[in-house]
Amino acid sequence: MKYVDEFRDPEIARKLAAEIRSVARPDGRYRLMEFCGGHTHAIFRFGLHQLLPENIEFVHGPGCPVCVLPASRIDMSISLALQEGVTLCTYGDVLRVPGWKGRSLLSAKADGADVRMLYSPMDALQLAERNPQRNIIFFAVGFETTAPATASAILYAKRRKLRNFFVHSSHVLTPSAIQHILESPELRTWGAPMIDGFLGPSHVSAIIGSRPYEFFAEEYRRPVVITGFEPLDVLEAVGMLVRQINEGRADVENQYTRVVTREGNRPAQEAVAEVFELRKLFEWRGLGPIPYSALRIKHEFADIDAEERFPIPAHPVPENKACACGAILRGLKKPTDCILFGKACTPARPLGSCMVSSEGACAAYYNYRGIQ
Ligand code: SF4
Repeated sequence: MKYVDEFRDPEIARKLAAEIRSVARPDGRYRLMEFCGGHTHAIFRFGLHQLLPENIEFVHGPGCPVCVLPASRIDMSISLALQEGVTLCTYGDVLRVPGWKGRSLLSAKADGADVRMLYSPMDALQLAERNPQRNIIFFAVGFETTAPATASAILYAKRRKLRNFFVHSSHVLTPSAIQHILESPELRTWGAPMIDGFLGPSHVSAIIGSRPYEFFAEEYRRPVVITGFEPLDVLEAVGMLVRQINEGRADVENQYTRVVTREGNRPAQEAVAEVFELRKLFEWRGLGPIPYSALRIKHEFADIDAEERFPIPAHPVPENKACACGAILRGLKKPTDCILFGKACTPARPLGSCMVSSEGACAAYYNYRGIQ
């Protein structure tokens, strides 16, 4: 398959790994955070960590949109789904994320709520057009990658004067999360994550470009290499990071040039800017409240904003104390450090969101642990 097979060639992978082994200093330390859950899965699925020297360590970051959804947002969406005349739609992974006392959208569906799994907000628009008697609410989650599609759906609904299409926005932003990880005051109690470099997200960067990472590289003296999801992409990016660390550089480099540019996707950025504004504060699962780290719908589109149009009881929901997702999402623990991993918590019966999502670090460890 074009753009896939040529980036999975085992012979080239072995050559790249040999090159990395030859440049990595035996006494060096290379703790590389892969921000994005897609990279975590690529690393474990293809066994890339096994090809590299032991002092190159992957630290798993919070770039899994489902993993960072707090229980309170899940509870809000459950309360929306249970309202008279409402059909609540969202992406498949979100349905099983546990909220308060383990309740999920899937359990609300079992209790009679009309909850549907969709692939895009455009499907929700179609549902609204075909079912004018129902209030269709799209529970919008994801990083900068999915926000443009939500923005386009809102603009379409406004243009078509659809009166039964609404959006419950939980879109979050990558740069704020990286900054929080690097300077959060909680690190005094949790301990510093000691990250020597970042593998930058691929899909997010296709939208926002490589420019927003220049701040981190310069301000925090950490190199960033934006990379794709295929094994050769990741290995090449690891080599680029090792070289930067050896040379004491902290630059933003782009390995994923076939998709990412410095400026990103301007029309997508404009659609997001037209519809959304920054929330002053947003609670992330595991990371806690982070200022200006999420998107809310602008006042001009209040007719479509489910938070404006429907009563939603908002109350803080405590996270499961035994779940170590918080420390995992900060790069401070590995899934195998959690006492529940693979015992009480499995993909079939997830207790925390890192086990629910196909991009979650716990799910990656569980699904591929046979080849670790
Ligand atoms: S194994 Fe389950 S309970 Fe433990 S950190 Fe992962 S998701 Fe949370």
